[in-house]
Amino acid sequence: MKIGKKYIGRGDVIYDVIQEKKIPTATAETLDGLLDYDNQLMFIRSGLSQQRKEQTFLHEMFHDVTWPFEVYDLKKEEYVCLLESDLYAVLRRNKCNFAE
Ligand SMILES: [Zn+2]
Repeated sequence: MKIGKKYIGRGDVIYDVIQEKKIPTATAETLDGLLDYDNQLMFIRSGLSQQRKEQTFLHEMFHDVTWPFEVYDLKKEEYVCLLESDLYAVLRRNKCNFAE
């Protein structure tokens, strides 16, 4: 999958995707990625293998689509339903095809 320069997340929030050698936070020495909700930035460490980049992209996407789980006290079935609709929408919007 080609990782583009934009990630269109939950609620159509658009994040800039930034691939850099080092994730710019003090605690990010070992991080491969980071989702900065406040500034709508998704960082992915450059120099990773394609598979690792795609996994990191998915990881950050999951942070985005699971954000409501941190806020609301949901039952498992409720969050699976939320995940079903939001994850489906985000995967489609970002044209995710990991078979490429
Ligand atoms: Zn994480």
